[in-house]
Amino acid sequence: EPRIFKLKSHGITADQLTPCALKTVKALQQAGFKAFVVGGAVRDLLLGREPKDFDVATDADPDEVRHLFRRSRIIGRRFRIVHVMCGPETIEVSTFRTVAVATNNDSDDRQTDQQSGRILRDNVFGSQVEDAMRRDFTINALYYDPVSQEIWDYHNGVADLKAGVMRIIGDPAQRYREDPVRMLRAVRFAAKLGLKLDPAAIKPIRELAELLEDVPAARLFDEMLKLLFSGHAVQSILLLRKKGLHHGLLPMLDVILEQPMGERFVMLALAKTDQRIEEGKPVSPAYLFAALLWHEVLVAWQQSQAEGEKPVPALHLAMDVVLAAQSEKLAIPHRYDAVMKEIWTMQPRFLQRAGQRPFRLLEHPRFRAAYDFLMMRCESGEVDAEVGRWWDDFQDAGDHKRGEMLIKDE
Ligand code: ATP
Ligand code: MG
Repeated sequence: EPRIFKLKSHGITADQLTPCALKTVKALQQAGFKAFVVGGAVRDLLLGREPKDFDVATDADPDEVRHLFRRSRIIGRRFRIVHVMCGPETIEVSTFRTVAVATNNDSDDRQTDQQSGRILRDNVFGSQVEDAMRRDFTINALYYDPVSQEIWDYHNGVADLKAGVMRIIGDPAQRYREDPVRMLRAVRFAAKLGLKLDPAAIKPIRELAELLEDVPAARLFDEMLKLLFSGHAVQSILLLRKKGLHHGLLPMLDVILEQPMGERFVMLALAKTDQRIEEGKPVSPAYLFAALLWHEVLVAWQQSQAEGEKPVPALHLAMDVVLAAQSEKLAIPHRYDAVMKEIWTMQPRFLQRAGQRPFRLLEHPRFRAAYDFLMMRCESGEVDAEVGRWWDDFQDAGDHKRGEMLIKDE
């Protein structure tokens, strides 16, 4: 039985939802179905934060939902949910579900899944109680009904939220085995929301981190993006390190945390990313990946030059080596390669400050990103700060001054 909180105990009002979310819930209820706002949005409202988006949970099945809303479509083949569109907004509507976990007497012959207890099917419709049970954290299993203005709480999530604790629903080790990505979600949410991870949720991670190796690379990459672009990347990384969890959790984190030379640079890049997100500015994954891998490129570049290669071809060799190695380990999609390479190949050109070269560099369409990158290199102590200041002045200067700034004896 859920604990039910009334308006005066939680203070969330229907006008804190977007019109689209409200409309979706009301239309479902008017058609005779149960409908609640669920998950992150309820949690964020209780924390006084603005929800990123709204998810709705209902006992209507996807076809029933689809038929209620003219602008909607069913997505996902196995895990069918409905996107309801109003204006620019999309509300994700999912039907109450239960989890079917593999057991030893399952007829399914996927041996490894039987042993690991990994989820085999999560597309089986269920009751609201079961829907609450399949969710990861108690604070993510809250249901808000904007019509009755009630919050339904099946796992003490409201109390945990008040106490500032993130607690797993059920046995943490078992829930991590079902879906290892929950280990990363635990750390990401704790850092982002400023909550304390329940010790019971931390303990099994060290031992189970290796299960992440079996998670499809694409899903791991998505999760890594969420962590790096949560607006709290620095906090997340520090938390992982403090808990001793940075080994093996994510290949990307090994790269970040195990390059002594590059660490300062990488943390700087993450801090800048956090700051831009805070300010509502756009962030570019390619730029951040370029920063994460830069010191590996530097090492390979030096090595190639030591073997007798000229600087420019050596850099190209180094980039190819690093990108090939990372695509196996980190699964950064190749669509980012071109931009990363542009940012990298422009770096040595900042040191050429004679003749027409600085003018040509200024005109490069990727100049801004490469310049920001250079400034981070200066700030981290890799490049002489004088170079950064020169480019700063050069951009501001008029034609005449620029001419005078050119370095003659290069
Ligand atoms: P965010 O602000 O990052 O969107 P969120 O809590 O909404 O946070 P989502 O990934 O959008 O996170 O998931 C929505 C809800 O679905 C979660 O609140 C949780 O209840 C449930 N959920 C998502 N992923 C999992 C998972 N791997 N295991 C169990 N439940 C999950
Ligand atoms: Mg969400």
